Amino acid sequence: MERVDAIIIGGGPAGSAAAITLGQRGNHVLLVDKATFPRDKCCGDGLTTLALRELETLGLTPSMVPNWFSVADVRLRSPSGRDVHLTLPRQGVFAATAPRAELDATLVDLAIKAGTDVRQGHRLTGVRNLPGEVQADLDGIGTVAAPVLIAADGMWSPTRKLLGLADDGYLGEWHAFRQYAAVTGEAASHLFVWFEPDLLPGYAWSFPLPGGRANIGFGVLRDGTRKIQEMGDLWPQLLKRPHILRALGEGFAPEGRHAAWPIPAAIDRATLAQRRVLFVGDAARATDVLTGEGIGQALLTGRLAAETILGGVGEPAALAARYRTAVRHHLLTDHRLSTLLNRALAHRRVANGALALVDRGDWTRRTFARWMFEDEPRAALVTPRRWHRRFLRQPGPYSENR
Ligand SMILES: Cc1cc2nc3c(=O)[nH]c(=O)nc-3n(C[C@H](O)[C@H](O)[C@H](O)COP(=O)(O)OP(=O)(O)OC[C@H]3O[C@@H](n4cnc5c(N)ncnc54)[C@H](O)[C@@H]3O)c2cc1C
Repeated sequence: MERVDAIIIGGGPAGSAAAITLGQRGNHVLLVDKATFPRDKCCGDGLTTLALRELETLGLTPSMVPNWFSVADVRLRSPSGRDVHLTLPRQGVFAATAPRAELDATLVDLAIKAGTDVRQGHRLTGVRNLPGEVQADLDGIGTVAAPVLIAADGMWSPTRKLLGLADDGYLGEWHAFRQYAAVTGEAASHLFVWFEPDLLPGYAWSFPLPGGRANIGFGVLRDGTRKIQEMGDLWPQLLKRPHILRALGEGFAPEGRHAAWPIPAAIDRATLAQRRVLFVGDAARATDVLTGEGIGQALLTGRLAAETILGGVGEPAALAARYRTAVRHHLLTDHRLSTLLNRALAHRRVANGALALVDRGDWTRRTFARWMFEDEPRAALVTPRRWHRRFLRQPGPYSENR
């Protein structure tokens, strides 16, 4: 039986971040994905400051991703129709858009450069989490054993199912739709977020890409009342709203069909680890429940799993406990705050009031922009252990490249 230091299932941001971190420290890592890269992933392609800081640490630079777009201007629209214009700080990149087909392929390339044995087009079909090792059955490869396995296999995590840990009927906290489009209005250069009254606390977006294109879409919280078909029917209605059409411009032309996918955002209830198996990214339901953004959280949890392993695999229960502690330290209070804010923002009046407050002056707009894009953890203000000298004043990622 083939043996390696670590097996990683899934080559999205979570799996690649773990592979790069382990590989750079000389570990023999096998990363398996059922897809062949470049592969698309249904996503808004938006990168928060958190995601950008993690990507910079992994050695990814904007020039490696052909259709990277660094965002400087953001437009928010409140449910009552108030337009709020945020200008992101110019020292570094605080928000960007990168098509997932390109971003994920670049990360997989970086994993290969770090020494990872990446095998594409192979599926995990069985897993045994034994006292002495973990064994993975991989179609077309056979059985591989390792002291530890990282499950980075997304929302439907086959690893979770194969270990008997899946919740029956779990469909994620959000459901989101996206489509690429040619745009000629301000959406060609600005990032738009529309808090539409019928989507709250969800929103519609247009994230700019180079060459007069954009990733447009919307996300809604799954509250048990909306059916997926009804959510899909909202899409053509949204695209007829005058303020959205105005931003997209007269030459707006959708490309292909829109796609939809669930978003898991329940880090407080997810199984983060079972003995020698650590769950990361969407498989750990790590997405921010306030915004549905999960690339930064996927990169972060992938790195945390790798760092836990680098600390020594040792006794499996202790390994699992160390990983759980690390994830909770970085994400649990933020998740709780996001959950509270989500409930509040479901009310139109609160959403209008919050955006009026944001729009009070330059300082509130600037500070909110940093908070919205997770320059600091969501709940940083109430967790003094995470304060630092340059709190909300540090330069953005890639400030050296500008
Ligand atoms: C419509 C939509 C819009 C979104 N917009 C944003 C956004 O703008 N910004 C943001 O930060 N987040 C966004 N998200 C969330 C984001 O897409 C996810 O949180 C992120 O992709 C999670 O990364 P991951 O590495 O955990 O999982 P994934 O990217 O899903 O990767 C999982 C990998 O596992 C592989 N895999 C699955 N099963 C197997 C198997 N049996 N064997 C081998 N491999 C397997 C898959 O092929 C895949 O490559 C959005 C989500 C949706 C649905």
